[in-house]
Parts: sequence; structure tokens; C-alpha cells
Amino acid sequence: MRHIHVLAIGGTIASRAADPVICTTYAPLLSAADLVESLPPMRDTVAHVTSEDFLKIDSASLTGEHWLAMARRINELLSGDVDGVVVTHGTDTMEETAYFLNLTVKSFKPVILTGAMRPASSMSADGPLNLYQAIQAAASDAVRGAGTMIFMNGTLLAAREACKIQPVRPDAFTAREMGAVGCVADGKVEMFYHSTKEHTLSTPFEAETLTSLPKVDILYAYAGAEPEMLDDCVKRGAKGIAIACVGNGNLRPVWRDRIRELAREGITVVRCSRANGFVNRNGAQDDDALGTVSGGNLSAQKARILLMLALTFTSDPAEIQEMFDRF
Ligand code: ASP
Repeated sequence: MRHIHVLAIGGTIASRAADPVICTTYAPLLSAADLVESLPPMRDTVAHVTSEDFLKIDSASLTGEHWLAMARRINELLSGDVDGVVVTHGTDTMEETAYFLNLTVKSFKPVILTGAMRPASSMSADGPLNLYQAIQAAASDAVRGAGTMIFMNGTLLAAREACKIQPVRPDAFTAREMGAVGCVADGKVEMFYHSTKEHTLSTPFEAETLTSLPKVDILYAYAGAEPEMLDDCVKRGAKGIAIACVGNGNLRPVWRDRIRELAREGITVVRCSRANGFVNRNGAQDDDALGTVSGGNLSAQKARILLMLALTFTSDPAEIQEMFDRF
């Protein structure tokens, strides 16, 4: 029998609204035990389910310190007799926590994040089935070694690619052009493919040895954006900046000039695209000349996480580029 542990962080899945037709205004009232106890008996899955209240927080309030604490707790659980962890989590920043855990959990055992778009009190609440099926997925052999995943609305999405693209509907998550890596239906857990990117046991990142993360900011580019924003980030202590650039990681010449100077001062800039596609190295901009890193197909919010972890080792853009290519 598989032992699956539910680690509750908060979010809509643990919330109730005043009325069954209210879906966007609610309060966090449910414990991890409440969530697990509300589920019907597991069908087609033999799992012993335990639970724990780790945080009760809206996911917009999470910080790097919370991520480090979560990774440490999950590593502790998975190094013991727990066979898989399901994290119930607010959906707003779920993709960020998932990618952080994908890079810092040191186990081949599954970690699956799930949540809800509708509170538990809602007509057609999505939380109970999401949690039930996430537990089924975590208990299955199919997902072992696949890295951290998000399970929402019937689909398993790789942490690296998952993104929330819709603010209210149950089909809020996608992995865009990468697609779902798997699904769960009536107890059957199906994995379609594994990512080629390395994760968990293959990364050098250890939450156990870190007490904080370097400050990395995100800037969003637009027509006419002024380069002083870059200086504001640095003045407030940023060691790195992930930019959601226009197009293929393209930059205004005034930004490019300032970024070249910042790179010489040891600030690492990663070029991502606000269009959510693959930004190729030395494509729209000459990364070699600028001292910048190409974010590949990582969103700026995911690039920020990898950059924070990478900067705990090095600020050499070539070494950081290698990490972006691998993870
Ligand atoms: N504001 C909530 C959160 O992210 C939204 C949700 O859980 O869907 O914590």
C-alpha cells in the first residue's frame, strides 16, 4: 500500500464562500484533514493517506523562504516511508512553487501540486476531484521519476511548463505548446511522455544548505519602456533580472546598452518572451556580446526561480546559460 501525504498550503481549495454560487470571494476555513476527510473512499487505488497543515496562505503571499521550507519538509517526508506528496496550494503562484520544488526536491518519488478554482462551498466545486485524482496519480507507478507536476482539471502538467492562463475557470492551467504530460480518468493514471529537461535528483540545488535566495526581479517590456527600471531593480538589491521581453527576447537599444553595462557589474539578465515561446540564444539579441542569458521557453516567472538558484553557485553568464539549457 502506498503512503501519500497531503501537505496543505492554503488557497481556494481550502476555502468556503458565503453562498454556493459565489466563486471568487471566500475565506480559508478548511484544514488538510477536512480536505482529505471530505473525499469518498479511494477506488482503484490502494493508498494510505495522511495530511498536515503546513501553511494557510493565499499563494500571492508566498516568498522564497516559504519555498525553501516547503522543499526541506518534502525532502524530509520523502526520505522516510512516504511514497508521494500531494501539495494543496493556491493556484495563483502554483506554477512557481512547482518549478522551485522540481529543482530542489531530492527524490524520484512524486510531488504533485493541486488546487481549485472554485471554493469548497461552490456548486460544482473542482477541489475534491482534483485532490482525489492527484492522490491517485501520486500513488501510481506511472509518475515516478517524472519530476514535480501540477494536477488540475484531469490533466498532469510538468512543473517547468505549467502556467495559469485564466483567472476563474476550472480549465485555468495549460502547458501551452508542450501539452499535458499525462492524465487521470476513473482511477487510470496515464503518462504520455517525460520532459527532456533534468530535474530533482539531477540538479545541484539543495534547499537544506540555503537560508535565503538572492534577489531577482522581473521586468515586463513594452513599447516605449524606459531603461531606468533596470537601475531601480539594482538599487533595491537585485542580483539578477528576468525580463519578459517583446518578441524573441528583443530589447530596445537603450535597454540593450544599459544591460551590457549591468552585466559588466555582475548583474545577470535573462531574456524571456512575453509571448511565451522559445527565445533562442544570440537570436534577436547578441547574448555573447551583451553578457545575457537566453531563457529558452521559460516564462519570466520560471526564469526568475532558476536564476535565483543558479546565482547561489555562480554569476558567470556562460555557466548560468548551461543551467538554463539543462533544467
Ligand atoms: N488566490 C488564491 C490563491 O492562489 C486563488 C486560488 O487558489 O485559486 O491562493
